[in-house]
Amino acid sequence: MTSNIRITQRVLVVGAGPVGLAVAASLCEQGISVDLIDKRPSASLHSRAFGLEPITLELLSAWHIADEMIRRGIVWAEAPVGDKKGRTLSFSTLALEFPYMVIIPQSYTESVLTEWANKVGVNLKRGMELKTLTPMGEKVVVKIEETQSHSVTKIEYDWVLGADGVNSIVRQVLDIPFVGQDYQHSLVVADVTLNTPPTPAVYARSVSRGLVALFPLPDGTYRISIEDNQRMDLPVKQPVTREEIANSMSAILGQDFGLGDILWSARYRSKQRLAERYREGKIFLLGDAAHTHVPAGGQGLQMGIGDAANLGWKLAGVIQGTLLPDILDSYENERRPIAKAALKNTDLLFKFNTAPGILGRMVHWIGVQATKIPYIEKKVVRMLAGEDAQYHCLRQKGDHKRVGQRLPHLVLCHAGQERKLTEVLRKKQFVLIHNHAPRLVSALQSYFQTVAQQLTVVEIISPKKLLRDGQATIVRPDGIVLWLGSDIAQAKTRLDSWVNR
Ligand SMILES: Cc1cc2nc3c(=O)[nH]c(=O)nc-3n(C[C@H](O)[C@H](O)[C@H](O)COP(=O)(O)OP(=O)(O)OC[C@H]3O[C@@H](n4cnc5c(N)ncnc54)[C@H](O)[C@@H]3O)c2cc1C
Repeated sequence: MTSNIRITQRVLVVGAGPVGLAVAASLCEQGISVDLIDKRPSASLHSRAFGLEPITLELLSAWHIADEMIRRGIVWAEAPVGDKKGRTLSFSTLALEFPYMVIIPQSYTESVLTEWANKVGVNLKRGMELKTLTPMGEKVVVKIEETQSHSVTKIEYDWVLGADGVNSIVRQVLDIPFVGQDYQHSLVVADVTLNTPPTPAVYARSVSRGLVALFPLPDGTYRISIEDNQRMDLPVKQPVTREEIANSMSAILGQDFGLGDILWSARYRSKQRLAERYREGKIFLLGDAAHTHVPAGGQGLQMGIGDAANLGWKLAGVIQGTLLPDILDSYENERRPIAKAALKNTDLLFKFNTAPGILGRMVHWIGVQATKIPYIEKKVVRMLAGEDAQYHCLRQKGDHKRVGQRLPHLVLCHAGQERKLTEVLRKKQFVLIHNHAPRLVSALQSYFQTVAQQLTVVEIISPKKLLRDGQATIVRPDGIVLWLGSDIAQAKTRLDSWVNR
């Protein structure tokens, strides 16, 4: 059934950081009109998050922008464990479409996202600050101040998405507790030049004094991340000096690799906090506004992009009337446990890498040695890649274990052509992947003819073993398995709880 829906609902996204840009562009690409505001007069030039994980690349690929990130960044397939020998863990052991990370400063990532947002028609206005918001029945009334003239406008929206960072005004006005702790330790990051850079270029060491990691940036400079136990009690306001960086490098790495200029630096104190709720009626929280943690393992940006990918298609479907309104509750049910686990894992990783004293170093040594065991190596690499995250709440009794998970790298046949799953997902439709299952295909095609949602049907080429003969799987537009099996009635029942009939 073709739909002829006039979409008049208005969406406001607060905050044009990476997460706000991503969710705004994703909604707009699906035909929703979006206003995106940011209080800053221009985009931030700070590099902050500098890596995109394999799973984040899959999400970006389904938005057509992974290739551009790869073009502007540096592909990196080996993560150093931080020992003296420079041993690494390889992403290439994972069966993923992108078995590597891309090193790309956050300012570049935001610039690619901004180009996408402009292309799809997001109404992006900088120098506009959200001052307050009030839910009023089915609407949300916001007050926005133009930061130069200080003139305030009152506007009514149908939906408001708070992607306004760690000090989120949206979260504060709604009085949503941001539960957790502030770390007492201060950490240092800097972008520097090195006259005699290390080989391999991604280099890390963890010793009793702390951890230093070096990452090459696309412009030839280096990102340095320092967790120095002897300096962690310095106040964040104390400027970072070149001498201090050289000293931490020499003490922890054994040399300073010809440290040259310090181009940007920050001393910061992390928080480990999680919003108690992600939703209040027609208002949602995403990204750092909903969760924040120490950057060990580089998770902050990945988590936020994951939030945007999860909420974007659901909200677009509900606004268009093709999905049931109740499915919006699944955003918090799915994403909050992922953030909770990331808070725990990053805290453990941070403590593990900086563990001082004989006992701390012994634990660290044992942990590093354990990664030589293939099972543990794979577990750690899957965590670093973001591949271990799954939505347990989607899985019902008797469901296949893949329900709630992403699929490995697949080769599919669509309209006689070989396709990757992320290419098929660009249509923003549910995808039915089958292995010689004509009865199932025809039944589900008939089902989708009676609803406004659409279905893309593809056949699996490899790995064939993913589906037995006669089996199929329904994949959501964000790449998550909704159902897998061969029982037509069960597949329809599962769709009935998502699709508006
Ligand atoms: C020093 C540092 C190093 C980091 N390193 C890493 C790393 O290595 N890996 C990693 O994954 N993550 C890292 N992070 C975290 C990462 O930068 C964040 O997770 C990411 O920026 C979150 O994106 P966001 O869009 O949710 O929030 P932000 O990037 O904070 O964007 C929020 C936006 O909202 C705007 N805003 C705020 N209030 C208002 C308002 N009232 N009205 C309008 N606009 C508003 C702000 O101006 C801002 O542009 C680091 C962070 C820091 C500070």
